[in-house]
This record gives sequence, structure tokens and C-alpha cells, in this order.
Amino acid sequence: MSLLLLEAPKLDIFAKKNCDTQNDSSTKKESHSQLHTKKHPESIICCKNCRQIITKDEFSMVVDGYHEHLQCNPHGFTFVFRCFREVWHVAQAGPPCLKDSWFPGFYWTIVHCNQCFVHLGWQFSTSPSPTKGDVFWGLLTDRLSHIRTDP
Ligand SMILES: [Zn+2]
Repeated sequence: MSLLLLEAPKLDIFAKKNCDTQNDSSTKKESHSQLHTKKHPESIICCKNCRQIITKDEFSMVVDGYHEHLQCNPHGFTFVFRCFREVWHVAQAGPPCLKDSWFPGFYWTIVHCNQCFVHLGWQFSTSPSPTKGDVFWGLLTDRLSHIRTDP
């Protein structure tokens, strides 16, 4: 089942450095290698619905051995989400809750886009009022899209 989880998103993290693309004249040819041959692999991740900026690939993190997780909630809904240590422009909905947490010991809170209010994922924290470092976010892969930040 976890084979599903190894797709494109991590490519930016392992951006290849061996591409001699000093000649920017050939940029148009890159359609097949979008994600992993840039000199500056930094890419912005935004809300797929409204394009609000949410995070960056460089804030990706691994939790329990994986960056991307597949989880099921008690109602039988399945979610695929990626973990980040920093996000912007999200709003929390409701109080932090420990019950049924996918990460034992972590409180979870639903977060949504603060512009269009679409459900983006969850904040996970080791305390109900976390400080930086005690918190990470799991953002639903299919609610995100990338914006290239080409120089
Ligand atoms: Zn949005």
C-alpha cells in the first residue's frame, strides 16, 4: 500500500545538481523533467483552489519515516498528506484534539486555507498551545499545487 506514497513531491528535495543547464535557451524542452532539473529547485506550494501561497518544498519534513502519509480516519475516509515544518496562510478550525490522532501524543487541529477556506489538512502539535518546533502540518496532497519560481 505504501508504494503509492513515493511519487513526485519528493523530487524537488533531491533535485539533481548534475545538469549543466547554463544555456537557458532550451527551457521550453523541459516538460518531461519539470520537477528535478532546475538550478534553483525551490518551489512554492500553493492552495490548488485559490493559489494562495501555503508553503515551500524546503519546509518538507519526514515524520515517522515518511514525508507523505496515507491515513484513514474513524469514519473510513482515506487521506494522503505531506508533512511540513512551516506553513503560511492557513487558519485553524476548532480546538486541538488528542483523540484518534494519527501520531500518538500529538494533538491535531483541522486547518484550512485562509483565503478560500478549503480544507487543506491538519496541524499536529505536542501541546495544545505549541511553540515553534513542537508543531508540524500534514497537508493534503491533492489540495496543493506547485508554482515554479524560475529566476
Ligand atoms: Zn485557497
